Amino acid sequence: MVICRAASMRPRGGFPYGVATTQPVTLRRFLTLTGRAMALRCPRCGGGSLFRSWWALKPACPSCGFALDRGEPDFWIGGYAVNIVAAELLVTILLVALAVATWPDVPWALIQYGGVALALGVPILFFPVSRVLWLAWDFCFRPDRD
Ligand SMILES: [Zn+2]
Repeated sequence: MVICRAASMRPRGGFPYGVATTQPVTLRRFLTLTGRAMALRCPRCGGGSLFRSWWALKPACPSCGFALDRGEPDFWIGGYAVNIVAAELLVTILLVALAVATWPDVPWALIQYGGVALALGVPILFFPVSRVLWLAWDFCFRPDRD
């Protein structure tokens, strides 16, 4: 199933500038790349060991040479957005589930202080996954930047 066609105005395969190239984005490809990202593996080849540290990616995949540094200074803003939205959504779901599960004797103090701790901690724990997720989705929808 084709979700959409990623288009680019970049040259590829001998096409001059201004000629769009397209590559179908299928649900299977999207899910494959998302799964690799969730496992902290390279979106292109599935190889591992992409990080120098918790906070820093290597410049390229050690297995296939896929450029992890995309060369755009604002590229990772999307990764930060993925991190905040996903982490805070998860925290909200957990806290609402706790409140519903313990109703009517909801442990409000636990929710208040635990919620603050989770709201600060989960984005830190999710940070590497969010970066590789953003990279994988970029690779899925703009594959000719490879
Ligand atoms: Zn790779």
